[in-house]
Amino acid sequence: MVSNLMKFVVSHKKIPILHVNNMCCSKMRASLQRLKSHVPLGRNYSSLPGLIGNDIKSLHSVINPPIAKIRNIGIMAHIDAGKTTTTERILYYSGYTRSLGDVDDGDTVTDFMAQERERGITIQSAAVTFDWKGYRVNLIDTPGHVDFTLEVERCLRVLDGAVAVFDASAGVEAQTLTVWRQADKHRIPRICFLNKMDKTGASFKYAVESIREKLKAKPLLLQLPLGEGKAFKGVVDVVNKEKLLWNPNSDDGKDFVRNPLLEMSDPELLKETTEARNALIEQVADLDDEFADLVLGEFSENFDLLPAEKLQTAIRRVTLAQTAVPVLCGSALKNKGVQPLLDAVTVYLPSPEERNYEFLPWYKGDLCALAFKVLHDKQRGPLVFMRIYSGMIKPQLAIYNINGNCTERISRLLLPFADQHIEIPSLTAGNIALTVGLKHTATGDTIASSKSSALAAARRAETEGGKKHRRNNEAERLLLAGVEIPEPVFFCTIEPPSVAKQPDLDYVLKCLQREDPSLKVKLDADSGQTVLCGMGELHIEIIHDRIKREYGLETYLGPLQVAYRETILNAVRATDTLDRTLGDKRHLVTVELEVKPVETASVMPVIEYAGSVSEDLPTASQEAIENGIHSACLQGPLLGSPVQDVAVAVHSLVIHPGTSTTMISACVSRCIQKLTVYCDGHKWNMDVCLHLKELMILQGAEEG
Ligand code: GDP
Ligand code: MG
Repeated sequence: MVSNLMKFVVSHKKIPILHVNNMCCSKMRASLQRLKSHVPLGRNYSSLPGLIGNDIKSLHSVINPPIAKIRNIGIMAHIDAGKTTTTERILYYSGYTRSLGDVDDGDTVTDFMAQERERGITIQSAAVTFDWKGYRVNLIDTPGHVDFTLEVERCLRVLDGAVAVFDASAGVEAQTLTVWRQADKHRIPRICFLNKMDKTGASFKYAVESIREKLKAKPLLLQLPLGEGKAFKGVVDVVNKEKLLWNPNSDDGKDFVRNPLLEMSDPELLKETTEARNALIEQVADLDDEFADLVLGEFSENFDLLPAEKLQTAIRRVTLAQTAVPVLCGSALKNKGVQPLLDAVTVYLPSPEERNYEFLPWYKGDLCALAFKVLHDKQRGPLVFMRIYSGMIKPQLAIYNINGNCTERISRLLLPFADQHIEIPSLTAGNIALTVGLKHTATGDTIASSKSSALAAARRAETEGGKKHRRNNEAERLLLAGVEIPEPVFFCTIEPPSVAKQPDLDYVLKCLQREDPSLKVKLDADSGQTVLCGMGELHIEIIHDRIKREYGLETYLGPLQVAYRETILNAVRATDTLDRTLGDKRHLVTVELEVKPVETASVMPVIEYAGSVSEDLPTASQEAIENGIHSACLQGPLLGSPVQDVAVAVHSLVIHPGTSTTMISACVSRCIQKLTVYCDGHKWNMDVCLHLKELMILQGAEEG
């Protein structure tokens, strides 16, 4: 087991290293390409479109579009599939940026942290707001690296729909699989974009097959590529039977022509497209009864007569029901296929009101929002990104934080535009807001307008919940996020440059933890050193880097260590007696315990009592027993790592009158140690394990 474990650890470490190497090659290639065609840099962040001067009235209509026209979407993918490049193109075509950013240049809008620019990866998800053909799109750029799975999870809760970007030469990759499953869990409708169609080795057919096989999804081919690899020049719109060709002389891909396919000029392509369209119609009809009736009735003789809008409406229903996924293709880098992708986002993905959030009725239109991201801005202090589910947010508004059970005031309200933010007077349900002034709100907190409003919602939830299922308590039902924070996998010590700087370091770590709950900080009781615990090597490295860059504090990291956990493989049972006389007092306690594996993972030991023990057990003694169990589980016998996934059963307990609780704890603790180290003369039967969830993630990464 230990050697198996080492394998995991080694392969896990390989992921970031491999990635960095790959990136360097592609960076060099891209730099060469850039020498040929250089797009002028110097981004000009425009104000909101349709805004003349700073007219608040027109601003109001711009910032609060009808909810049916809002799309909250995310882009998810395996690392390097082209999320950032696609996002950049989207922002450019939507008019929000005036020049094309390039990940290989390090000047993209969404990867705005300095490290991201240098490393060319997306770590912190940033929300970006833009308009497309009368729709308001809030785009949340989700990270793709295994070290940042928590970020992905959290963002998925805020999305109403997602675009999955694939490298068309690689098809479904390991991380896509992980994120796809997470999106399934949150029931998020998706569109697939087969990117990199220009790349040598790109294969539309192969990528579609891998979606079918690895993701077990039903792909709806809404497009066909015109050429592959170097020959890729555009796409066929299957629904409309049109050909979309990008002007080869255009620098930025803004120029493209859309022409109907004609028998005269494209007989072969028209035939192929008609077959694809008929197949699509049949496929959708199989999944949607309403559409099946339509097709079998009016249009059974000739599918060609079926209007494109009718087909689109049915595709939309199927997409929202998640019985199939529309597939489009293109090349973000070569500026082809991104505009139709944006059209598809507005046409096929849901608006906030088309999503079924069970908690909405409880709030009856009162404010309900989720803080899904906290950033620390040197000038403005903490910035909190919020998804508003109901009600409205305004500057100077007092809000109630359900998790923190505290009230605080929003000072300013901004519309997030990557690292640029536009000040606005109000924002309504369905939107993503960025607030200034909240000092206590942390990532994952649920926000209501007041404590009484939250209580009213809790009461409604209670009445309704009574019919369905009961949950722990009122407040808990109202918490939207409850994102499970995985146990850290790696840790290392961190030291300030001098003892005098320790308070500064403590402050910085506190700020970073509010932004990123997967970062844990503890104090080593033996050495008094501060210990950083994180999800991976890259995660800790980035934290280290940010401390220096953003807070100007040079720190030193100790060697990186794996946060092992120990667990038991078989049940063992033993009895222990502690008999000690201190002064004139005799302390005598005998306990019989059993330690056994549990099926569902649990960081804390599960404690059970035999009926005879629990019958008349004083609270003080029970506390003493539990303290003893918990302290014994802090350090396992193998490596001194915490013990988890175990249950401890107390079978019998005899306490001599006058025995102190400290002695009870000591006896219980000693008995567990005896159990786990020696049992019946055999040496321990403990084993080392990583946290189970991490093991799954690592295995997922290896599958690819
Ligand atoms: P992310 O990790 O998913 O955000 O991917 P990036 O957008 O950072 O892209 C990773 C690499 O793939 C970069 O070197 C891009 O230049 C390159 N890339 C992105 N899109 C395309 C594309 O459409 N075609 C080709 N050939 N390369 C692309
Ligand atoms: Mg990226």
